[in-house]
Amino acid sequence: MTINRRHFIGAGATLTAASAAAAPAVRRSGSRPTVIASGNGFESRDADGLTCVELAFRQMTAGTDVLDALIAGVNIVENDPEDTSVGYGGLPDADGVVTLDACCMHGPQRRAGGVGALQGVRHPSRVARDVAFATDHHLLVGEGAQRFARNFGHPIEDDLNTDRSRALWLEWKRRTDPAHYPDPQARAEAGREVGLAMVAEGKIDPEHYYGTINCDGVNAAGDVCGVTTTSGLAWKIPGRVGDSPILGAGLYVDNDVGAAGSTGRGEANLYSLASFLVVEFMRSGLGPKDAGMAALKRIQSQTVHPRLLREDGNPAFNVNFYVLAKSGEHAGVAFYGGRSYAVCDEAGPRHEPIEGLLG
Ligand code: ASP
Repeated sequence: MTINRRHFIGAGATLTAASAAAAPAVRRSGSRPTVIASGNGFESRDADGLTCVELAFRQMTAGTDVLDALIAGVNIVENDPEDTSVGYGGLPDADGVVTLDACCMHGPQRRAGGVGALQGVRHPSRVARDVAFATDHHLLVGEGAQRFARNFGHPIEDDLNTDRSRALWLEWKRRTDPAHYPDPQARAEAGREVGLAMVAEGKIDPEHYYGTINCDGVNAAGDVCGVTTTSGLAWKIPGRVGDSPILGAGLYVDNDVGAAGSTGRGEANLYSLASFLVVEFMRSGLGPKDAGMAALKRIQSQTVHPRLLREDGNPAFNVNFYVLAKSGEHAGVAFYGGRSYAVCDEAGPRHEPIEGLLG
């Protein structure tokens, strides 16, 4: 099925009953209202032509709860069939099944929720919100997460593949499995090599092989929230959960300090719980850029296995952090810069460069 990019948002607008609950306390803080996101937060558009950061900023500054505004924003990307790294049309796992990860944090209410390996729900960010607000838990996975989503009225779809994501999976399968799976190690290596070759050939956007949206916002009252949602690593081993739904890894929010979220190689970030680390570095006095760079240095120091290193000894993968201080100051940092992140504040929506630690 082909979906017109201008019309894919239709399903996106409403939050579930549980999602509508509880307005945050208003506290004047002197914060400059700001929303930041990974670069795709200023690319996918809804039926009105708005991107994630524009819609989130518009809703947030009109008084909508910051987290609800951010989730409405990332729903645009989750719905976009052309973003093969998030939600509907995300690149599937090695068995051809789209499985999604997401988490969210509400700074002022100290609530957090996540879902991992969720199938059949194109808006995992909304389910993560329901986990945060309607349960005593922080993380639901797999079939239990899907049952929870069904019980909370989230539509369950048979298959979140698009023609494009299925065709790309079939090509990957054809190339990696001509004789029905060699031994697991060889299969994993072959899979990685073929995936990277497909990136090099321009078949897959490098940002979407790994790929995710993280979106963070602060309003004038100083309420800080964040959300991360993804289809995870392309062709992953079924059951693999990345950093995106893990609090402290794919996202961390502290209402007194700010927010940080990540895209890129989830395993590296999981090992260091680096979004938490970024926020802790800001708490100790570093600005968003320096805090992000300090966390990258920590990941670099923990990256020792030769398979993860380039010939020059630097990491053979990228990790990006989107960092927002409570003041509204922000930064995008990565091992390797050259790409951009999305920003929307009083000066309007735009891309800003991601600064590289290693060039
Ligand atoms: N961090 C995500 C994961 O590892 C993917 C990405 O952001 O590119 O699942």
